[in-house]
Amino acid sequence: RPPDADAMLRTAAVASPQGDAVVDGKIRISHAELDGMSDAVAGGLMSRGVSKGDRVGLLARNRWQFVVALTGIVRAGAIAVPLSVRASAREIEFILGDCGAGLTICDAEKAEILPDTVARAAIDGPAGSSFEDLLAAAPTTTPPDLREEDVAVILYTSGTTGTPKGAMLTHLNIVHSCLHYAHCFRLTADDRLVMAVPASHVTGLIVGIYAPLAAGAAIVVMEKFDADEFLALATQERMTVTMLVPAMYNLCLLRADFAKHDLGAWRIGSFGGAPMPVATIERLAKLLPNLDLIQAYGSTETTSPATIMPPGGQAAAPASVGAPAPCADIRVMDAAGREVAAGESGEGWIGGPMVVPGYWSLSDKTAESFHAGFWKSGDVGRFDENGLLYIHDRLKDMINRGGYKVYSAEVENVLSFHPGVAEAAVVPRPDPVLGEKVHAFVHRSDPTLDEAALKAFCCERLSDYKVPDFFTFTSEPLPRNVNGKLMKQALRDRVAEPNG
Ligand code: ATP
Repeated sequence: RPPDADAMLRTAAVASPQGDAVVDGKIRISHAELDGMSDAVAGGLMSRGVSKGDRVGLLARNRWQFVVALTGIVRAGAIAVPLSVRASAREIEFILGDCGAGLTICDAEKAEILPDTVARAAIDGPAGSSFEDLLAAAPTTTPPDLREEDVAVILYTSGTTGTPKGAMLTHLNIVHSCLHYAHCFRLTADDRLVMAVPASHVTGLIVGIYAPLAAGAAIVVMEKFDADEFLALATQERMTVTMLVPAMYNLCLLRADFAKHDLGAWRIGSFGGAPMPVATIERLAKLLPNLDLIQAYGSTETTSPATIMPPGGQAAAPASVGAPAPCADIRVMDAAGREVAAGESGEGWIGGPMVVPGYWSLSDKTAESFHAGFWKSGDVGRFDENGLLYIHDRLKDMINRGGYKVYSAEVENVLSFHPGVAEAAVVPRPDPVLGEKVHAFVHRSDPTLDEAALKAFCCERLSDYKVPDFFTFTSEPLPRNVNGKLMKQALRDRVAEPNG
């Protein structure tokens, strides 16, 4: 059977003990040191009564302690429950209550918003209830026996589709995803990955933490994404690999001095989590011709990669999210649950060792979304004749304009090619005759850009029924959630209002 996620990191620490594992500002922790710290945290947790299968909350910003706490919790055989530092007290209370966490490792400034029922170990907190107490504990000598089906992490979905649901990531899910990224990114102990996405989200957790550690590579921690700081850090740390959400690439491209940075060591630029405008891919390819752009498509329920673009493939198929990851079984189904032929669109169902077994304590939701080993993604897509997958939209974001289906991502892609558009989001607007019409929200970089010009631009490139009927221009970025995802529901609510 495959090793568990903890054994995978132990092996990496033996293979490249002295190499950097975590770099956070001036702090540099080698793989051997990280291994020792994980033993200590595991020992500290076990001496506080944490045992196999217990849930331990982890509410910390991107910092070295997050990595140490995560690997220590998992080494103790407990289940880590990462929480976003931008979550509200109410959301935190919901999640910790839902999973029944008894202890939470947290940033000291977050300790106060935790519910009273939860014990805490605060980073730089008061002695007796601090994370440093755990780090100073006697290392564990008897870690529990872990099996591939054991849950290692519960990750709550960010809730763009309703109440957060706790996806249970098993050791097998994590190990498989790491092997997959090691293969696709050709990761070695010489790699240096800048983690600029939140560590508490599946992309940060798997691509940002587990995959580099398993390869003996270095994680360079960025507390919070900022385009200028990211470019400076990537240059200074000789970054070789990173994975960002599309909005982060766009923000980098908006920097006038982008091309002046020495990013010569950067070989893999991966992206996923949301549709990537084709215009952004083309701009990046032009500016950094040696950079391999690799799209990944996945979700919390697939422990991140369900498909990935093979190296070198994105230029030929910029709108595709790639081919199924090794062992991923992806079927495109019609509304009656029958598989459709290549070229036809339908809902993607995903099976394979990366798919989580279900949601924590939600048997109804699990039964609704998982069927015969497949997770019903809620995404509409199609395969082409070469086996590459194209994601058109989320089912709930698709616009039905009097029977004509309009994929919001397709319209957004066209809008993003206009040089005066920084970003765009397209949502359905209720219409008494057609049911829904197309409404575009446009963050413009050129203040003179107007509706007539943009409509003409779309008419040249889209079927008439796809051309937005309404435009709202903003000079501000569009609303995004903590993981950088567009909050389309907020925009839908705006156009649903009588004067929206
Ligand atoms: P919730 O599940 O509550 O809506 P969420 O959107 O944050 O929360 P994630 O698991 O982070 O959940 O996101 C998964 C979704 O993101 C996918 O189902 C898909 O719609 C979208 N997505 C991920 N990668 C890509 C990609 N490369 N291209 C287009 N869409 C993507």
